[in-house]
Amino acid sequence: MNEEHTAGSRSCLSVRDALVLGEMYCGYAADAGVRAHASSGGIVSSLLIELLRTGAVDSAVVSWITSEHERIAAVSGLAETRDAVLDAAGSAYIYTPVIATVRRLEHTQRRVAVVALPCQARSIRELIERRPDLRRNVVLIVGLFCRGAVQSEFYDDLLRKKGINPGDVECVKVNRGHVSGEVRFVLRGGRCVSMDFFELNAYRTAGIHAHPACLHCTEHLADSADISVGDIFTAEYKRRSVKHSCFVPRTEAGLSAVQGLVESEKVACEHFGMQRYRDTFRKLEAFTNTLDSRAVAARLTRVRFPGKGIRPCHPLHVLSWTLFFVFFRMSRTAWGRRVLYALPPIAVKGMSVLVKGLSKV
Ligand SMILES: Cc1cc2nc3c(=O)[nH]c(=O)nc-3n(C[C@H](O)[C@H](O)[C@H](O)COP(=O)(O)OP(=O)(O)OC[C@H]3O[C@@H](n4cnc5c(N)ncnc54)[C@H](O)[C@@H]3O)c2cc1C
Ligand code: SF4
Repeated sequence: MNEEHTAGSRSCLSVRDALVLGEMYCGYAADAGVRAHASSGGIVSSLLIELLRTGAVDSAVVSWITSEHERIAAVSGLAETRDAVLDAAGSAYIYTPVIATVRRLEHTQRRVAVVALPCQARSIRELIERRPDLRRNVVLIVGLFCRGAVQSEFYDDLLRKKGINPGDVECVKVNRGHVSGEVRFVLRGGRCVSMDFFELNAYRTAGIHAHPACLHCTEHLADSADISVGDIFTAEYKRRSVKHSCFVPRTEAGLSAVQGLVESEKVACEHFGMQRYRDTFRKLEAFTNTLDSRAVAARLTRVRFPGKGIRPCHPLHVLSWTLFFVFFRMSRTAWGRRVLYALPPIAVKGMSVLVKGLSKV
């Protein structure tokens, strides 16, 4: 273990300590080369690289953003080498065609580890329960924490606003720190255009071009995965020099895969605690894990919402969801898109601060 590795994780688990199912841990890849490509601590990429190296899987299903037919496109595909895993590392803030990619594996002999959003992890779990052939293909489901993804129009509109043809984009990479972040659009021909992550994220937070399923989603920690992985944004972890991921082993398969990584010192890891996570993010979970305030907001904004009666709920949460649904609805009309993308960035930031601020009350 190198010096940075040891220093970054003060209470590193001893290799004799066994990880516990359903508990939360924080950690990061020992290999700085992996972390350099990763979204947070590189736990997902480390896991995929190790599964490929040991032959536990033939491929990993990974996802990225590119362009096809003059538009931005989300792509899911197979990675079979460390380099291919690292090329696709990082978060693609978009809804990806992971499920279709998994379906195509049926009737092949290929064993895969699949990286999926929580809703996708649940669908894949249900799918493989029904299809024994596919169950043999999917060795491990790695779920990402997720509180919202967007549709491809999100990037099309933003790029056009910046004077860039979406069809010129080869890939999109997000480099996100605790207090700053950058989105790099790599164009065909090698030119690179950067944007402040928080400018892009303001459109996402406000609900613009949200994926419709996110409007009524309450499943953010990928409970159906074998192991779920997310960011850890507590004050303590923001102060650390090395960015950490948090993760929860949820099945014996997930536990054994990540335990192997810890024992071989490929990741540094320390206990965080599921209850501590729930206590720390209590307000966020009260906003995102319930449907009552959304049901009222949906009725006010005439957004279609799966049958839910009206129940007592927090009025400021209703206001936050109402704004989110209004901006979502606007982004689904030509005039609304023109208005939203004519706004100066400061106005969009103001909208997102309002939506987020009201959600935290
Ligand atoms: C749309 C989206 C929303 C998210 N929201 C939250 C959140 O609210 N809170 C939180 O704590 N964490 C969230 N995350 C997860 C977080 O951004 C990191 O992905 C996670 O911490 C894992 O980091 P890592 O460094 O271990 O992964 P890395 O080593 O960087 O690997 C990430 C893996 O995920 C795959 N991937 C990237 N984007 C997608 C996608 N859209 N669909 C399927 N696979 C993908 C990549 O191909 C790669 O294999 C979100 C991620 C996404 C994609
Ligand atoms: S918020 Fe929910 S529905 Fe939306 S992409 Fe994430 S897991 Fe899927």
